[in-house]
Amino acid sequence: MRAGEAYPVEVGCGLDVGALAAAALEVGDCALLTDSTVGPLYAGRVRRSLRAAGWRVLETVEVPAGEGSKSLAVYGEVLRRLARAGLMRDGALFALGGGVVGDLGGFVAASYMRGISLVMLPTTLLAMVDSSVGGKTGLDLPEGKNLVGAFLQPRLVAADLGFLESLPRRELSMGLAEVVKMGLLAGGRLFGALQRLAEALAGDAGALEELVLLSVSFKAGVVAEDERERGRRAILNYGHTVGHGLEAASGYGLAHGEAVAAGMVAEALLSRRVFGTDLVGLHERLLREAGLPVRVRGLEAAEVLGAMRRDKKRRGGEHRFVLLREVGRPVWGVEVGEEEALSAVEAVL
Ligand code: NAD
Ligand code: ZN
Repeated sequence: MRAGEAYPVEVGCGLDVGALAAAALEVGDCALLTDSTVGPLYAGRVRRSLRAAGWRVLETVEVPAGEGSKSLAVYGEVLRRLARAGLMRDGALFALGGGVVGDLGGFVAASYMRGISLVMLPTTLLAMVDSSVGGKTGLDLPEGKNLVGAFLQPRLVAADLGFLESLPRRELSMGLAEVVKMGLLAGGRLFGALQRLAEALAGDAGALEELVLLSVSFKAGVVAEDERERGRRAILNYGHTVGHGLEAASGYGLAHGEAVAAGMVAEALLSRRVFGTDLVGLHERLLREAGLPVRVRGLEAAEVLGAMRRDKKRRGGEHRFVLLREVGRPVWGVEVGEEEALSAVEAVL
């Protein structure tokens, strides 16, 4: 099935990546970027599919699995490997992996020879529904996460649900945090599909495919309206204002999906306070079904607020939130005072 408008986003099982890429861009030289977990599992299959469609795979670069690979050192090493392999400006980079490989590969593609074509082959649920669409690429610095980056839209996103079979259940839940978020923001069919979350987790491939396809279409649609994040794209930060605060206050010991899950509950509490709509129980039910926590332990509310204050997305004196007037009706830029923000954070600790 196909979701994209500006560029194709294909979702399915057992996709023929080589043929899909041949339909989306001119066949020629390419390189494959992957990580040390995904490479041994799937790189061989992807290379065969590419070669069968006429691609010349000049190099496969395998970086260590994990966030540590979004670094200047690994970035430099990848660029040098591409240069040594002789990849030219008309070449393409295929990023096969989770959000780390996608963000790193995206930044490599945006900068190598001032920009080459990028194809995203996401292998985690998070990468399928979130990081592979939207055009944000980036690296971390020792000073902070995602401090370096560029916008580059991929030429193709091909999400093969077959890859998810080897994904640990916890990683699946991390992606579901964003799926639940998008369902609450979108309402309509995506929210309806969320009612089949338990079936999707129990192995119902059709239910999972529907969730992925509708989520990725929703994100692609929001981004298409606002590629550079000047307005409506901000709604995708639902749950993330508190979530980033929780992550930072935990010294990044807390996983992103877990922090966003608790963050959404806190922001649902704020939404109830501001708009009077009570969606807190609904949030808790969906998040629990997805295998996510609705509270986090061992953090101080004051530290979380401190981290939120330092977050780069905050302007002026008040905290600004994306809140839900009701399912499918997000409002962004809602200013909330310190006291109210504090009590919402306290409620999820
Ligand atoms: P990840 O890429 O580190 O993958 C998680 C783990 O799962 C890794 O160890 C990986 O090797 C392994 N893995 C991946 N696919 C697998 C598979 N099919 N089977 C078995 N194991 C597999 O992490 P992630 O959660 O996919 O992505 C997180 C990153 O995404 C963060 O760096 C975050 O900043 C970034 N991100 C970017 C955007 C964006 O818009 N660009 C959006 C959200 C998140
Ligand atoms: Zn997120």
